[in-house]
Amino acid sequence: MKPYKMFSGSATEYTNLHNRIRGRIGKPKQCYLCKDKKCKFDLANLTQKYTEELSDWAYMCRSCHRRWDSPKYHWKSEVWYKFCIKCKEIKIVNEFYKKNSKVVLNSGTVYQMVDYTELCIQCSKEWSKIQYRERLAKIGLVPLHTYKKG
Ligand SMILES: [Zn+2]
Ligand SMILES: [Zn+2]
Repeated sequence: MKPYKMFSGSATEYTNLHNRIRGRIGKPKQCYLCKDKKCKFDLANLTQKYTEELSDWAYMCRSCHRRWDSPKYHWKSEVWYKFCIKCKEIKIVNEFYKKNSKVVLNSGTVYQMVDYTELCIQCSKEWSKIQYRERLAKIGLVPLHTYKKG
């Protein structure tokens, strides 16, 4: 499991450290994880230890960076995995619905990133089935398939 942002210093110290590393690490060529070359790059800290070691840093696209810092996402064998809050399983992101989420940076810049739903597809489907049944029950109806079963 990856820890949350562990940086203990101030925002200025955080920016200064990033600038120092950026000066030494050179220009970004591709995302460290998904290998995208045409994206906007963030300088990401790999271990959340924020050392001055260059091996502790890499350029990532915004989506990968956000996921890297999130405890719900896991990167393994070149693929993203996500934790489903309902079944509590860690599944490959293809088993979730895609959604766009808006991210607002401290600087006020807004950008869209591809995110995935909190529930996996299987849990989402079960959830909507339950809601459907509850809605029918409210108006005194029974779902059709329960008639067929008997
Ligand atoms: Zn990426
Ligand atoms: Zn699930």
